[in-house]
Amino acid sequence: MTESQVKKIGVLTSGGDSPGMNAAIRAVVRTANYYHLECFGIREGYSGLMEGNLTKMGARSVKNIINQGGTILKSARSLEFKTKEGRQKAFEQCKKAGIDGLVCIGGDGTFTGAKIFCEEFGIKVIGVPGTIDNDIFGTDNTIGYDTALNTAMEAIDKIRDTATSHNRVFFVEVMGRDAGFIALNSGIATGAIDILIPEREDRIEDLFQNFRKAEQTGKSSSIVVVAEGEKLGNIYDLAQKTKNEFPEFDIRVSTLGHIQRGGSPSCADRVLASRLGYGAVVGLMQGETNVMAGIRANELVYTPIEEAIRKHNEMNGDLMKIAEILAI
Ligand code: ATP
Repeated sequence: MTESQVKKIGVLTSGGDSPGMNAAIRAVVRTANYYHLECFGIREGYSGLMEGNLTKMGARSVKNIINQGGTILKSARSLEFKTKEGRQKAFEQCKKAGIDGLVCIGGDGTFTGAKIFCEEFGIKVIGVPGTIDNDIFGTDNTIGYDTALNTAMEAIDKIRDTATSHNRVFFVEVMGRDAGFIALNSGIATGAIDILIPEREDRIEDLFQNFRKAEQTGKSSSIVVVAEGEKLGNIYDLAQKTKNEFPEFDIRVSTLGHIQRGGSPSCADRVLASRLGYGAVVGLMQGETNVMAGIRANELVYTPIEEAIRKHNEMNGDLMKIAEILAI
């Protein structure tokens, strides 16, 4: 490899945590050490960067974390970093430690901060997509999505057992404020009668129609998977409206909540995190900056952060059709 464009790098996790962030930290630290770069772990995201809360990390400092959920560096949300003064403090800390490259693991808020910081102060930055929502353009999957999806699927399977035993209708809310990837895929995987996602304009009448069809075809229990950000209404309103329309239904609501963020990362997430952590460090060494490392069609690619934030992965039309067809 030609001479590295960076000498000392920092790595941080920011925004909502996701399973696989530790595997990404491990890959960053070990790749940096392999190529003889100094690597600093920055605690609590941008807050820690402003306060100089950092430690030098060697290969052994990340032992036994590839299988752990959460993030050993802790995550945080920092309002101060949104101000010029806050970012100036962060820059002073980088100067003091000699950090000339940063790997920022998080979602689009984290990337926005990284982009502004890079443009203001010239510190090289690379984003690594770590969020369970899978809503980042420039990568087929984000770190944590696969694990969260499997957690949701397993939970809905369990709900299905009790739904079937009592002939009940369950409305199950999964995470996804702006994106329905977890809802659509977990819904297909668990045979949901309907899946409500924010990307689509859903109509309550269509939902009712699906219930009528289910009755006619002899279904004894039904699961409706609803993304958190569904625009038709919150899950309790939807359940109430359904009860008003079908008073005979025994309806229950279940919100899966934060269990979807935790747990040991899946194999796919560990491998993805390892590839992206490696890709981030190698990218910085080769002079990439203000970009996000992603995997598209099984290839490591760098997408300008600006594009990763602005654009969105399209919901797969085939999947939506399949969900509808298989729910008969
Ligand atoms: P998730 O999608 O899981 O919520 P995220 O990275 O989008 O993750 P945010 O809370 O939106 O999470 O952003 C994380 C941090 O990034 C913020 O707390 C803030 O410090 C920084 N950040 C976000 N937006 C900006 C901005 N416009 N300017 C500077 N920093 C920002």
